[in-house]
Amino acid sequence: MTQPLQWQDEAADMRFMREVERRSGAPVSACFQCHKCSSGCPLAPDMDLLSSQVMRLIHLGQQDEVLRSETIWTCASCEACTTRCPMGIDVAGVMDTLRIMAVERAVEITDRRPPSFNKAFLTSVRWHGRVFEAGMMALYKLASRDFFSDIEKVPGMIKKRKLSFLPHFSPAAKAVRRVFKRAQEEEKKR
Ligand code: SF4
Ligand code: SF4
Repeated sequence: MTQPLQWQDEAADMRFMREVERRSGAPVSACFQCHKCSSGCPLAPDMDLLSSQVMRLIHLGQQDEVLRSETIWTCASCEACTTRCPMGIDVAGVMDTLRIMAVERAVEITDRRPPSFNKAFLTSVRWHGRVFEAGMMALYKLASRDFFSDIEKVPGMIKKRKLSFLPHFSPAAKAVRRVFKRAQEEEKKR
């Protein structure tokens, strides 16, 4: 028997929330909108949606609005929200999951710089076991096409020996690569 349209919509709404819960391991459905997470978020003034609003939109199955929001890329993963949540919801982990889902679904966002930076940072850490700043900036500039911002800071950084053009590897680089591989394997299982 075909289900009424309204039930089909509700099932689709639930599917998005259940997927976020399964992949993040966070009980998003337990959020009761106390706003403790967003009131303690240091980046809330720069976000288009507060973290508590992201939670509510997930409840409502507003997948497009959530995955297109700049908030998920503005989030600095500081975990202040996670620490403050009375329901033990790992809000920072949810933001991580939403970023992964946005990349997987090739969601178009207006400002490509945050996801480009995120990708360049993780690539650099995976290759070197730590951040190799010059290499990371080259990757970021190519991906974002943002070639000239902050360029005036480069001479000062070179002078103060803050920017090396030779890659440097962490002694734990191999172990870090194993962590990335393991994380990818775990992600596939979810
Ligand atoms: S982890 Fe992200 S959302 Fe949570 S408090 Fe920090 S910046 Fe805000
Ligand atoms: S602190 Fe927790 S329960 Fe309160 S709004 Fe944020 S996620 Fe929801």
